[in-house]
Amino acid sequence: MIVVMKQGATKSQIANVTARIEQWGCRVHLSEGEERTIIGVIGNGRPLDRGPIERMTGVERTVPILRPFKLASREFHPRDTVVSVNGVKVGDQQMVVMAGPCAVESRDQLLETARAIEDAGAQVLRGGAFKPRTSPYSFQGLGEKGLRLLAEAREETGLPVVTEVMEPQLVPLVTTYADILQVGARNMQNYALLHAVGEAQRPVLLKRGMMSTVEELLMAAEYILSHGNDRVILCERGIRTFEQYTRNTLDISAVPLLKQLSHLPVVVDPSHATGKWELVEPVSRAAVAAGADGLIIEVHPHPEKALSDGAQSLKPARFAALMRGLRPVAEAVGRTL
Ligand code: PEP
Ligand code: MN
Repeated sequence: MIVVMKQGATKSQIANVTARIEQWGCRVHLSEGEERTIIGVIGNGRPLDRGPIERMTGVERTVPILRPFKLASREFHPRDTVVSVNGVKVGDQQMVVMAGPCAVESRDQLLETARAIEDAGAQVLRGGAFKPRTSPYSFQGLGEKGLRLLAEAREETGLPVVTEVMEPQLVPLVTTYADILQVGARNMQNYALLHAVGEAQRPVLLKRGMMSTVEELLMAAEYILSHGNDRVILCERGIRTFEQYTRNTLDISAVPLLKQLSHLPVVVDPSHATGKWELVEPVSRAAVAAGADGLIIEVHPHPEKALSDGAQSLKPARFAALMRGLRPVAEAVGRTL
C-alpha cells in the first residue's frame, strides 16, 4: 500500500508512520513531492491492516496497491518519472533519441558515428563493448577498450553514453565509463545483475526480454527500484512471435500500456524489433505516435562491414533523414524532438 501524508505533515509525523511500518517488518520507500510526502510500504507478502496507519496523525489516506509491482506502478507514483542523464531528460516533453553502432569496433567507426548522430540531433550515444552474441564465434565486443573509446567519444561530443553490462561483477567497471547502464533482453531476468545495477549510481536502460510479458518487464524493473535505484528507463525492443520476416515483433501496444501501468519512461528500439534497416524509420514514427519517450537506434557508417547487426543499422544520412521525418510526428502528439 501507499500512505499519503497530509499537506504540511511534519517530519516527526512522517518518522512515526515510518517507524510503525518498519515494526511490521515492512520496508519503506519515501517519496517527497512538492506538495506532500508519499510513503510506499513494501510488504512481506502478508495482508496489511490499513486501519492503524490511517488513524495516525498527519496521515490523509492509504491506498492499497494490488499489482505485484509496487514501486514501478503508476498508483505508487502518479506523475511521470523523468530520468536525468548529464542534463538529458528522459521522460520529459522533449523526446530523447539514443543512437550509435550496435558494437564499438574502432575509434574511427565510433567517432564518425558519434559526430554524425550528434549533428542529426541525437542526445545519447549508444555502443556495445560487451556483446551478448548467439554464437561464441561471433565478435564479442572490445571489452574495456570499447568502454574507453565510448568515454573518448563523450569527451569529444559531450553526448552521454549508454552501454550494456552483462555480469554483476562488471557493473563497477562499466559504471566508471557509462552514463546509462543497459541491461539487455537476454539478461532481463538475471536477478543477480538486476540487484547489482539496482545498487549502482547510474540510470539503467532495461530492455524487455524477447520472451517476456509486460508484467515480467515491470517485475524486473521492480528489482532495480527495490535495490534503491529509482532511475529506470524501460525499453520495448520486440518479442518473439511466429513471424519470420522480421527479427522480432514490435509490441506497439506495450508502449501506451507501460505508460498506463507505470510512471517510468519508455523508449523503443526499432532496430532490434525489426532487424531490417528499411523498417526502422516507419516503425520509429509509429513508436513516437504511440507515446514513446524516446528511441534507441543503431547507426553505422558502413553497415555492410559491421561486425554485428549490420542489416538493421542505418547509415548516418538515413538517420538524419529519419530525425527530420520524426519531428512533425512528435509535434502531432504534443512532443518535441
Ligand atoms: C543491443 O542493444 O545491441 C542488444 C543486444 O539488444 P537486445 O538486448 O535488445 O537484443
Ligand atoms: Mn545490436
